[in-house]
Parts: sequence; C-alpha cells; structure tokens
Amino acid sequence: MTWRYKVARGAVIFVNRLARRIGRGSGTVIGGRVGLAISGNLLTDLTRDRTVVLVSGTNGKTTTTAMITAGWGGNVATNATGSNMVQGHVAALADSLGNRAVLEVDESWLPETIVATRPSVVTLLNLSRDQLDRASEVRHLAELWREAVKNSPEVTFVANANDPLVVYATRDGARVVWCDVPTPWRLDAASCPRCAQSLRFSQTSWECECGFAKPSTVDTFTDGGLTVRGHPLSLDLALPGEFNVANAAVALTALSVLGADVPSALARLNGLTSVAGRYAIRKWGPRDLRLILAKNPAGFSAALPLIGAGELWIAINARVADGRDPSWLYDVPFEQLTGRKVICLGERRLDLATRLFYAGVDATVVDELDSLAVPGAPVTVVANYTAFEQWRQRTVEC
Ligand SMILES: [Zn+2]
Repeated sequence: MTWRYKVARGAVIFVNRLARRIGRGSGTVIGGRVGLAISGNLLTDLTRDRTVVLVSGTNGKTTTTAMITAGWGGNVATNATGSNMVQGHVAALADSLGNRAVLEVDESWLPETIVATRPSVVTLLNLSRDQLDRASEVRHLAELWREAVKNSPEVTFVANANDPLVVYATRDGARVVWCDVPTPWRLDAASCPRCAQSLRFSQTSWECECGFAKPSTVDTFTDGGLTVRGHPLSLDLALPGEFNVANAAVALTALSVLGADVPSALARLNGLTSVAGRYAIRKWGPRDLRLILAKNPAGFSAALPLIGAGELWIAINARVADGRDPSWLYDVPFEQLTGRKVICLGERRLDLATRLFYAGVDATVVDELDSLAVPGAPVTVVANYTAFEQWRQRTVEC
C-alpha cells in the first residue's frame, strides 16, 4: 500500500475519534471527507483484501445490513451509523479490522460503489418513491441499476423477484439469485418498466402482455415458512412485521451465497431485537415508547399494520434529509387508522393533521412535547427520517 493510502486512512481514524471526543456525533461524514481529499482511491484500497457485500433498495437497507452483519458473525466492518454514501463507507472501513465488510448503499450511489469495492454479493431489496425532491425518479434509478448489473458479470445479485422494477434492473445479470418475498407496495410499478402497459398482479405473481413477468423459478421463497436455496429454515424473528421476514430472507440468501453457516446465522438473526434504535421499547421520562421508522409511502404501508393497542404518535419533519416536500403523506393509506386517535408531532405536524383529517382519523396537534411526558399507556411512535433521529436521541433503550 502507498504512503498516500496510509496517510488517508490515518486521517479518517483521527478525525472521527476527535469528532466523537468533542461531541460532534459519530463524525463519519467529516472523517470520510478528509480521507477522500487525501486519496480519491481510498474506498478501493480499503476493500482490496476484503469480501464485500452491498445492500441497496428504498426500504429495509439498514435492517438487512444489520442482519447480514449479525448473521455472518465475528469481525465484520459495517456502516451501522446509516451514512450510506462514500464518506460513510470510508469511515466505517478505515477504523475496523478483519477481511469482511457489509455496506448499506444509497440507491443512486450503487453503480459507482460496485465499481469501487468489487463486491462478491449485492442485495437489491426494492425500489419506490422516496424524498421526491431529491432522489432521482424511481424509473431512472432502475435504468442506472440495469447498466451496473450488466457491467458486473462477476457479482452475484440477490434480488427481490416480487418487485417489477428490481426484476427489470436485474434480469440480464450473469449471476442472479431470486428471492420471492412479501412486497406489498407496488404502486410505483403499476406500469411495465419495459413497455409501459399496465402490469397484471395476482395473489402470487405479476406479468405484462409484452412477456415481461416475475421470474418463473425462484431460489428463496416464503410460504408460511422460509426456504433458502432449497433448505427449509424455521424463521422465528424477534423483530416484528412481514417486511422484516422479507429482509431476513434476503439476508440469509446472501449469507448462503457467501458460504456462511446458515443454521448458526439463522439463530443469530432470530435473536436480533433492535436495529439502530428501532422496534425495542425505549424510555422517555415516565413513558415507554416503541420507535418505528417510516420515511415514504411504502415504508408507512409496511409500518401501519405493526401498530398495536396503546397510544399512537406520528412525527413528521421535512428537512433536506427527509425531502422538503411532504405531499407524499397523501399517498400513505392512513385510512387504515380511521377510528383511532393520533397525536401529531414534528415540524410538519399541521400537514400531517390535515392529511389525517381527510382520512377520517381523530388527530390532535401537540405543540409542547412536555405535555406528553406524563405517566400513561405504552406508545408507538412512527416517525420519518430526521424526526426519528430526534426521538432516538430523546429516549434511552430499556
Ligand atoms: Zn410490458
């Protein structure tokens, strides 16, 4: 390795540790930037002797990344802070040992991250609208992925066979392992990515008149149980929800492709109770809260069925990281909450309350958080990106 690599890696480690010591968060973005300014090749150099797995898709990236990391076991480098562009990748890898890495990757960064890291496996979870005014339009992303898949014949893609946009992006890949997993949100793929006619969806499949259709043979599938590449497994996740079953199926398939011991990986996955502050019960003064992240219509569709009895608070912000335009709230099926009381929080609580009014939900806007910090029933808090971060920081895990 060159002196430039050594200096750049050392700088990332130094700046990140300094940032943590002076209380500037995990420091991942700034440390990564400094390292990349010294060596533009840093990500390639840091992954040169490692087996790399990349995880991308609109929803489920962080959880699937955590599942593959935990399932693989031992010393695995990963960007657990959720910084999923090149600065975050460099920061996660510079300060860790071992020859294995699992990286969550922003959808639009995936092509260049494949080129830079030469991964063994790339998992493609789903594609739907997110952050309308920032991310590229979802079909443009599918075209970007398609080019990347075509140009990567040595990579194994573990892909969701139930998402037409993922299938469109992946079907010409040299090595594709298909996962038939629960994918309830399909409104962003209502028309065929190949010819623009309407897709026909049935309970278990989908197809277009032009011949574009769900792959006829799949390697991994859920049908009450879970079968990963021919091996039936008894999945018993502590994490809730069908979308986590989908994430686990993809994670175990990736581990199977890597040659990991799948039964021990399964045991470690079943034992996961919390990912980045999500799902576990957390304390906020006298209240017990369960935090759920949902940052777009597909994410909310998956989260709403998880809401149990007790109080429901929804917190919405519209900062740059959330997307400045909160009109996506009108695509969320909030009608499912009709008859429930919802407390509206966050900087865009009035937009949320207006949306809930049209859905026939009993919504109350609360301006002063202190008025909620009183003894009461357990609460489910569903929050979008920066609102979730605020709630994670306000609370502590029990
Ligand atoms: Zn078609």
